[in-house]
Amino acid sequence: MRQLQKEIDSLRLDNARLKSQLAALAPEGAEVPQWPVIAELWDERLASRQFPPKAQPHCRSSSLGDMCLRRLYYERIGAEKSPLETHVAGIFHVGNELEEDTRRALELMGFRIERAQETVEYYGTGPSGLGEVLLWRGHPDGILTHPHYGDRKWVLDIKSMSGMIWPALPDDPIECAAWLESATSKPWLIKYVPQVVSYLLAYGQTGEVLDGAILLFVNKDNSRIKLAFVELTAERAFRVVEAVKAVDRHVREKIVPPFVANPKACELCPYCGVTCEPAIVIDRETIVDMDDPANGLVLSSLRKWPSMKGPAKDFKDLDTVIKTRFRAMPPGKYLAPGIAEVTVKPPSKSGSITVKIHPLEQE
Ligand code: SF4
Repeated sequence: MRQLQKEIDSLRLDNARLKSQLAALAPEGAEVPQWPVIAELWDERLASRQFPPKAQPHCRSSSLGDMCLRRLYYERIGAEKSPLETHVAGIFHVGNELEEDTRRALELMGFRIERAQETVEYYGTGPSGLGEVLLWRGHPDGILTHPHYGDRKWVLDIKSMSGMIWPALPDDPIECAAWLESATSKPWLIKYVPQVVSYLLAYGQTGEVLDGAILLFVNKDNSRIKLAFVELTAERAFRVVEAVKAVDRHVREKIVPPFVANPKACELCPYCGVTCEPAIVIDRETIVDMDDPANGLVLSSLRKWPSMKGPAKDFKDLDTVIKTRFRAMPPGKYLAPGIAEVTVKPPSKSGSITVKIHPLEQE
């Protein structure tokens, strides 16, 4: 038994449940079975590295460039989400290891990376225009300097990147930043520039002016490097601040933002199917899924809508069911074949969304 205990302790497990599971696998005095246990423990270790959803009073720098305002809203209120799958947790783990290795290599090359992971914060005025509220908080990988560049300094963020995407990443650092900002088919890439812009804004607010931001990408397949150089422009700053203010407004007013316009963002979204049900649309041409029971109420309301049109209260209730449902959808045209076509207009300046119903049976 002492031998078994020694083996368990040597694995340096900090999880009491795993320790007892491991002990249960071997009868007293027997050898600890090595291979199957190691594989299981490894997966459990990856799976345990996640935190339950928790409401946050501010946005996180790493997510505030998200294409989906609704997801940012869910993050803020701590909505329920699906746990990270083990293979996805594994991808993050590999990325973190590679980023750490890259940081060490840069230091060996004479660069200095200081204040790694320090907390940076950005404050804005409160909703009534008075007081200060924390809008976002982040943790940059560090401030990069090199004796060769005198007192110039950049905020640094290191990202590992799949070898599949690598060839598309431009070699020119300025083009690379612009490419990232337009990568709408890869929703996680589009968050990188706003993330470092949020750091630059936070440092600027404390009076510390940097020479820009460097996103340093490491190819996971062969460890090659490419850079994106991000300047703080008024347009970039405006986009970040406006997005955060919009999320804040939704949280304050308890109004769930519409579904994301690009359904690509819903792939791998942890809220999809748990808190968020964006699947009323079965394809990009926005044909309403007639067989989905979740659409039953809105479809039957649409069927009754033309015959009940009038001032009666019942009609108003029916109208409200339909319009509330479609106001939560991205702007566009929705076709419920044989019943109606519904047009959802983009929000007006005051934030109101017009929904127009065109019954097809009357045409
Ligand atoms: S499922 Fe889609 S619409 Fe819903 S929060 Fe996720 S990305 Fe946004």
